[in-house]
This record gives sequence, C-alpha cells and structure tokens, in this order.
Amino acid sequence: MDELGHWINGKRVAGTSGRFADVWNPATGEVQAKVALASKAELDAAVADAAAAQPEWAAMNPQRRARVMMKFVSLLQRDMDKLAEALSREHGKTLPDAKGDVQRGLEVVEFCIGAPHHLKGEFTDSAGPGIDMYSMRQPIGVAAGITPFNFPAMIPMWKMAPALVCGNAFILKPSERDPSVPLMLAELMQEAGLPDGVLQVVNGDKESVDAILDNETISGVGFVGSTPIAQNIYERGCANGKRVQCFGGAKNHMIVMPDADHDQAADALVGAGYGAAGERCMAISVAVPVGEETADRLIEKLVPKIEALKVGPYTSGDDVDYGPVVTPMAKENIHRLVQSGVDAGAELVVDGRDFKLQGYDDGFFVGPHLFDRVTPDMEIYQKEIFGPVLSTVRAGSYEEALKLAMDHEYGNGTAIFTRDGDAARDFANRVNVGMVGINVPIPVPLAYHTFGGWKKSVFGDLNQHGPDAFRFYTKTKTVTARWPSGIKEGGEFTIPVME
Ligand code: NAD
Repeated sequence: MDELGHWINGKRVAGTSGRFADVWNPATGEVQAKVALASKAELDAAVADAAAAQPEWAAMNPQRRARVMMKFVSLLQRDMDKLAEALSREHGKTLPDAKGDVQRGLEVVEFCIGAPHHLKGEFTDSAGPGIDMYSMRQPIGVAAGITPFNFPAMIPMWKMAPALVCGNAFILKPSERDPSVPLMLAELMQEAGLPDGVLQVVNGDKESVDAILDNETISGVGFVGSTPIAQNIYERGCANGKRVQCFGGAKNHMIVMPDADHDQAADALVGAGYGAAGERCMAISVAVPVGEETADRLIEKLVPKIEALKVGPYTSGDDVDYGPVVTPMAKENIHRLVQSGVDAGAELVVDGRDFKLQGYDDGFFVGPHLFDRVTPDMEIYQKEIFGPVLSTVRAGSYEEALKLAMDHEYGNGTAIFTRDGDAARDFANRVNVGMVGINVPIPVPLAYHTFGGWKKSVFGDLNQHGPDAFRFYTKTKTVTARWPSGIKEGGEFTIPVME
C-alpha cells in the first residue's frame, strides 16, 4: 500500500510519528494509501527549516518571485490531467470538476504574478518641510495554511501562492483525506524555481494543527474548514499572538421570485445543489421559492431534472454529474440527517436513500435528495449537510425570504433569481451574507476580487485572495525620512588646490 509522507526541504520524506490515516478511493471504497500524521516535533522541525530559508527568499526582488509563480502556472497547465486524476481518485469528484478545482487555484497564482505592483507600497513626497514618508509591505515571516478536503488543489493554492510571493515561507497542512495533490503542487513549485525549505507540506491531524497554533515562529495562520474548528483555531491562534483568518461552513439560500425564469432557476439549483455531491462551501443547500405558485412550479421542474442526474465514478469521464462523497463517515452523516428531516415532517420529494451503483457497491455514493416544506426549526435546515440534499423552504413574501437568509447563522453565499432589478438591488444591499449572486447560483468571486463570508462563516477580518491576501501576508512599515540639508551651502565649486 502507498505511504504518503511530507514535503520537507525540497523532497518527499517519510513520517516518523508512527501514526497514519487511511486515504480512501471513494468510488471503490478501498483504502488506497496511508498518510503520515506528523508529530509536534516533526512540525516544529519543518518550521525551523522554513524560518532559516525565508530571509534569502524574501531578499529576492518581487519580480523574480513573481517569475516563479509564472513558471508554476505553466507547470500546472502542463500537468493538469495528472493533477485532476490524482484529485478525483482521492476526493471522488468528476474529472471536469477536478480540473476546475486546479484551474480556480491557478487563477489566484496568476493574480500573484502581479506582486511587484501589489507590494510597491505608498509614498508621500514632502509630508513636512524636507520630510518624505513611505510605507513598505514586508513579509510576516513564516505563515501556515490548514486546508479542507473539498478543494485539495484550489484552497492550498489560494493560501500558498500569495504567502510565498510576498516573501514568506509557508507551512501547508492539507486535509488528511486527499493529500496527494498538495504534495504534487510542492514538487511543481520546486520545479518552478522555489528554493528548498520555503514551502513545507506537513500532513497531519489535530496534533499538527495544535503544533502550528502553539509554534512561536509562525506569525500568521489561514484556515478553511468547518465552523467549530474554525472558531477554535481562531481563538487559540489569536491568544498566541498570531494574525489568523478562518473560513468556516455554510448554508446558502437561493431565493426564487415569482417573476424569475423558472427553467433557468431549476437548472441553476440542480447544478449548484448537487455538483460535487454538494461538497462545496458555496453549494446551494436551501431553495426559497416566494409564493405557493412559484414553489409548486419549481418543484415540478426540479423533480425530473434531479431524477435524471447521473451519479458515478470519475473514471466515467464527462458522463457523470457527480461522484461519491469523500468518506464512509460523510455518507453515514448525510443519511442520518436525511432521516432526521423525514422524522421532523419534511416532505422527501426525491428519495435517494436506496441509491445503489452496480459494480460499486462499496463506494461512498449518495443518491440525490430533494426536500419540500422544510421549516427553520428542523436540523436539516440548521446544519450544513455537505451532501447531495436540497431543502425547499416556502416563503410567503420577498421580505420573508430575505429574513430567512438573514437569520441563518451562516453567511457565506446566497443568490436571488428574478427579472426585477429593484428586488435584486435591494437584496444585494440588505442581505448580511458575504457573496451574492443575481441570477448566478454560485457567486464565487474571481481571483482579483476577494472571497469570504459573513457571520459564522468567517472568523477574522481580511478575505482570501485578491488584494486582501497581500494585506494578510505582509506587515506595513512606515518610514518618515528627513535628510540633512546643508550640503549645498558647504559645497566646493572650484578645484581644490594646495595653499
Ligand atoms: P474540517 O474542519 O473537518 O477540516 C479542515 C482542516 O482542519 C483539515 O486540514 C483537518 O485536518 C483539520 N482538522 C480537523 N479536525 C480538527 C481538529 N479537531 N482540530 C484541529 N484541526 C482539525 O473540514 P473538512 O471536512 O475538511 O471541509 C469541509 C468544511 O469546510 C465544510 O464545513 C465547508 O463548508 C468548509 N469550507 C469552507 C470554505 C470557505 O471558504 N468558507 C471553503 C471550503 C470548505
């Protein structure tokens, strides 16, 4: 069986802790590899080496660091198929979706090629008599990123590319569910010219995360994952004097107004609700039709589309809509929550509980589910299910629909489908959610904007990627300079001669 270790000082090394986690192939249900789980001592040693390598990297001018990113982009393009295959094999998502995962990370790397511009600072000429003032952006030193299983290429790249291009060393602690792609990314970074030791990939679980939070050399931590862990990491990291940004879970509502194009809305809901088996923090998990007539029409359009979804392994290529969920525990949790919805009285209009895929009996496939008449007191409404389960909450009015999205504890993404510009504008202005779509179901901002939710979907202030990433991974230093001004008076204009 394959054993996956860590990436330390420019090479793959085996773990020494003696602890491992299983890495499944979710399509077949087989354990295909074991991944080493680092001890505190292994993490601390990786950080010490990174700290030693960082000053030389930081001293390289930003344009040269940007060229490493430029080369990295071309290597990602060269290896796209290989990366996507490794990603699908461990995560389960379809190959086209795995390529999207790599591509959305690559786009942030492209944005980082603009580092010389983003790092050039500010200058005020003559802030006082003979005084100039300038602000520099300097690296924070060693930063760390702790990332989730659901985007094993994109989110590590969202973290490491801006951190590195700013002149930091970076410790990546990827998800132990799908560790292969992060290790491959580190290899490509080395091929692109990144000096050894500047990027360390340390695989692990809570022990290595705690070691990151307690390590005195690490000065910044970025986390993406579930909300309870995000909150713990934020609190412990801040208490230890680090700058910390943590992005958590979601429950994204899509409001469908009576005047919306209902075919378009139904198509959007199917893609956004069931794509990647619902394992996306920007998935739509709650449909909110406004008015009984809208609700009836929407359900009528949704049911045949959901029943026609093709669920299968990534090896079927373009011929599947979504694949298995990531682990047997994830599958069990989804089934438990579906049962809780049934028990609470929600109507299970599409029932995927008995779904079986011939030839893949041990795979972690979950059939699509659609609930109608869900109410806010139900567990399926309150909790993030992270599976192919869409809940419909019928709202009597636009205000009622808006209030639902506003009152939910999560605030990552939301969308409204309407032809009414007033309603769309009002929604975008008033809703207390970080990313809003207008007739766009998954409004993930592009690399040059920033990504982040509100409420319990985030802990910290700055967002991911875009200009905020350059703020998070640098410290501002402001210099006030006055130079002696007597030189002109004392100048000699005739050639000195012997008296
Ligand atoms: P997770 O919280 O289980 O794991 C995230 C990371 O934390 C992993 O690296 C994991 O090893 C580590 N971890 C797990 N348990 C820990 C513990 N007790 N102490 C310290 N570290 C621990 O999340 P996941 O299941 O990998 O990912 C899915 C979650 O991530 C969902 O809630 C999803 O909404 C969220 N997510 C959020 C965003 C966003 O930008 N807001 C993006 C993607 C995913």
